[in-house]
Amino acid sequence: MLSISIDGKRLSVPEGSTILDAARGAGISIPTLCHIDGLEKYGGCRLCMVEVEGSRSGVQAACTTPVFEGMVVHSSSPEVIDLRKSVLSMILAEHPADCFNCKKMGECRLHEYCAEYGLVKIETGLEKTNFPPDVSNPFFSLDRNKCILCGKCVRTCESLQCSDVLCFAGRGRSARISPAFDLPMGKSECVSCGNCVAACPVGALLPRDRAFPGAQYVRKVKSVCPYCGVGCRIELLLKGNRIVGVKGDQDGVNEGLLCVKGRFAYGFVGHPDRLTMPLLRKDGVLVEVEWEEAFEAMLSALKRTVAGSGPDAAAGLSSARCTNEENYLFQKFFRAAVGTNNVDHCARLCHASTVAGLARSLGSGAMTNSIPEILDHDVIFVTGSNTTETHPIIGARIKRAVNLGARLIVADPRAIELADRAEVFIRLSPGSNVALYSAMANVIIAEGLADGAYIAARTEGFSAFAAQAAACPPELAASICGVDAEDIRKAARLYANAAKAGIYYAMGVTQHSTGTEGVLALSNLALLCGKVGKPGCGINPLRGQNNVQGACDMGALPGDYPGYAKVADPRARSYFSERWGASLPENPGLASTELIEAAAEGKIGFLYIMGENPALSEPDSKLVARALGKIDFLVVQDIFSTETAEFADLVLPAACFAEKDGTFTNTDRRVQRLRKAVAAPGEARDDLSILLELLRRMGKPDSAADAAGVFAELASETPQYRGMTWERLDVTGIQWPCPESGHPGTKVLHEKGFAGNGGKALFVPVEWKPPFEPADEEFPLVLTTGRNLYQYHTRTMTGRIEGLTRISGEAYAEMHPQTAAAYGLADNSMIRLSSRRGDIQVRLRVRAHVKPGVVFVPFHYSRSPANRLTHALGLDPYAKIPAFKVSAVRASPGEADRGASSDAG
Ligand code: SF4
Repeated sequence: MLSISIDGKRLSVPEGSTILDAARGAGISIPTLCHIDGLEKYGGCRLCMVEVEGSRSGVQAACTTPVFEGMVVHSSSPEVIDLRKSVLSMILAEHPADCFNCKKMGECRLHEYCAEYGLVKIETGLEKTNFPPDVSNPFFSLDRNKCILCGKCVRTCESLQCSDVLCFAGRGRSARISPAFDLPMGKSECVSCGNCVAACPVGALLPRDRAFPGAQYVRKVKSVCPYCGVGCRIELLLKGNRIVGVKGDQDGVNEGLLCVKGRFAYGFVGHPDRLTMPLLRKDGVLVEVEWEEAFEAMLSALKRTVAGSGPDAAAGLSSARCTNEENYLFQKFFRAAVGTNNVDHCARLCHASTVAGLARSLGSGAMTNSIPEILDHDVIFVTGSNTTETHPIIGARIKRAVNLGARLIVADPRAIELADRAEVFIRLSPGSNVALYSAMANVIIAEGLADGAYIAARTEGFSAFAAQAAACPPELAASICGVDAEDIRKAARLYANAAKAGIYYAMGVTQHSTGTEGVLALSNLALLCGKVGKPGCGINPLRGQNNVQGACDMGALPGDYPGYAKVADPRARSYFSERWGASLPENPGLASTELIEAAAEGKIGFLYIMGENPALSEPDSKLVARALGKIDFLVVQDIFSTETAEFADLVLPAACFAEKDGTFTNTDRRVQRLRKAVAAPGEARDDLSILLELLRRMGKPDSAADAAGVFAELASETPQYRGMTWERLDVTGIQWPCPESGHPGTKVLHEKGFAGNGGKALFVPVEWKPPFEPADEEFPLVLTTGRNLYQYHTRTMTGRIEGLTRISGEAYAEMHPQTAAAYGLADNSMIRLSSRRGDIQVRLRVRAHVKPGVVFVPFHYSRSPANRLTHALGLDPYAKIPAFKVSAVRASPGEADRGASSDAG
């Protein structure tokens, strides 16, 4: 620590601090227009000049000058004030004098400082620059005439978002910020994250929907982004009962950054399409009814089913979009009030194999490390995850880590954005990943790179695993994966030799008929190199939906109670029987994929779906439609009508994330509060109050009355959450396990030992098996499905955002030029894709980044539903997850043009 003085105040500050750091720490305000916390010192605007006694020039920029022992600083001496006035005068000379017409009014830093230093417009007599406005981006505009060239947008784009879109162009008075080649923003590589907009201190970059005048919102409410599992913290900016903007919260894992969905896709909240009244099917038509009639119809149908066919003829699909409290009550309703374990949710479709695989190998099926540790890695191995599109803030963090020196390995069937930055890129065939990981293990063992001490002290089962790995040399794996054996060796050496290496994966690993084996193979690899249970390492599944981790934690799974206690375990059953005052069923229920099959066979009489859309998201849409059509009474509870709601007998209008209180658990096990910000439309009710009412009417009233009460109840029953309280979560998110009060939460799992096998992790030998439905003569291409940046899941929310529809409103298929040429298919033409289940027409994008022989189709779009092609056969035997990543298809020219193919919402 160093002793310094600022404005006569004696301070003790850490060595390496700048004057600006020290002043801020002491609550002394120094103006700056260009400084960004956490980035390299810049010193561009010179507004933060301060007087430093004894320095050569007398004044120094506070943001770039490090403190030294005995330093004496004056932050507001007359000389400093004069200097700042000069700097502001120069900026102002170039700036338009129309503050009253500027939508940044009230939040403009330049205006604020000019007012503070008593400056008004400076006239220089120079002709003003007159750049045309750039309104080509659907979400924000760029007015270069207002730009003060502070460079915050450029450095945010380059060093935090790491998209490298914005740069400085021109010289002198034509100097400007611009995408490369002066392209309009909307035609550039810009991903519309708006992080540059948030960084702009003046009115040059502004959201297009920003209301006028600038200080338009009157309230801010802290919440959590409702889209992906990263769990970015946000502040909702509100005017009355309306959201007028979203800001990234600096205190979240996102450190203030957001992606396009988190920042701009909030218009669904007050959208006119929202469901506002319960709808009951009468004479074949859904008609509005009061809640009383809706509850009566629902519960009499449920009781009829249970009386006629037993409780296992009823089932429920809970929701990874809903809160922990709602998921907890949902599973409790089915188990304690209905008497069945037939409850599941969409984790079955994304990471059920992670839960099964990592629980078996490590004792816990969750991300072992934390998002902030990405910057600590020496090596990052990304496999089966298009991270910059599906988990954009984690993707940006990985790019930043690489910019700071981390080395990157990417294995994926497509040359995804991260592949451009990878030292080793392995473009493997879909369904071959087990062979790749086994061969990497083979190299590591053969070359003596394994961590023997770690293996001996912390694992079991190494010998059997090593024997299996020996049978998978790189040459064999290379022929299976369709890659170069040398690349496998390079990747293995890079990963094994790193002091700190993290594995990141997603559904490219899990959505296979061998999904659990893929997860186990990755886990084996991490254990082999001693990279589990240590900071800066780990095996990190990236969970898809905002609360999919929480829905699993809460027991919205057919074989698990809250906290992953097993329904088959008599002790767990007896504990929850006592807690819930009901005798509980002992047989595990049906997984969602099995449930669809059972419904198609007429075995399900009552199905209650909360916030899911299986008609579009489950594999083999025709089978799903047949199944939904056979159910006697189908209840769909959602915020919008969906493809699934078209089959419903009863539709219940629910509140969305901004209209209720609760908690979400993100992908790094971080439990975070969301807060009610606006009222739900019409008669829509939050899912929690609907479930509390159902429990009461079924004679199992819950003692809790609200989200805080339900959280207290679930925390007391879930060991990982036991130390959390509503009040603690009001201050900050907490990562589980948090076993007792006062526990700070856990950043790194397994540091002290593993949960099973006497504290040891388990190597599980796995052998590559071919995909269930490989390409063949009749269907010679491999279809692999996934997501894109601009849409979310089945588009119930993002489909209502006009800007997203403008950017990505139409379904597409991506194919390598060689593949397209082989089938006579032209770029941008409509093509027909057919599988054994059905066919779709979709617009073709010929792109070299896709592996030849592979077709990628995002599953978001109802007009070209990718899941009409996928199959529900060959489920992973452990996790029952479908093999979305490999279906055999063929391609042929489609109709000349299908103008109506856009899912315009
Ligand atoms: Fe929301 Fe995910 Fe984007 Fe963060 S990265 S803003 S959580 S969609």
